[in-house]
Amino acid sequence: MVKMKNGTKSTICVYCGKTATRMNKWKQPVCSEHVIKGEKKRDCPECGATMVLRKGKFGYFWGCSAFPNCDKTLSIQQELDLDKDKKE
Ligand SMILES: [Zn+2]
Ligand SMILES: [Zn+2]
Repeated sequence: MVKMKNGTKSTICVYCGKTATRMNKWKQPVCSEHVIKGEKKRDCPECGATMVLRKGKFGYFWGCSAFPNCDKTLSIQQELDLDKDKKE
């Protein structure tokens, strides 16, 4: 387990949610296992447009490319949870 101070946001891997230790070619945070996996893509669950990984004050998040028409955002963890739901 990775110990974190309260309030410290560590960046997590866009594929598995483990602590990200590096960036892939597309500037997406990944763990060492997933650095070879390529670019992660996600369609907006609201409007179907491509979502892009953005960096904000509180770290990385997925934002809809149709912004400002669609202001859907997902944290990396929320995006991973969407995939979990789908597998049921
Ligand atoms: Zn990973
Ligand atoms: Zn959207």
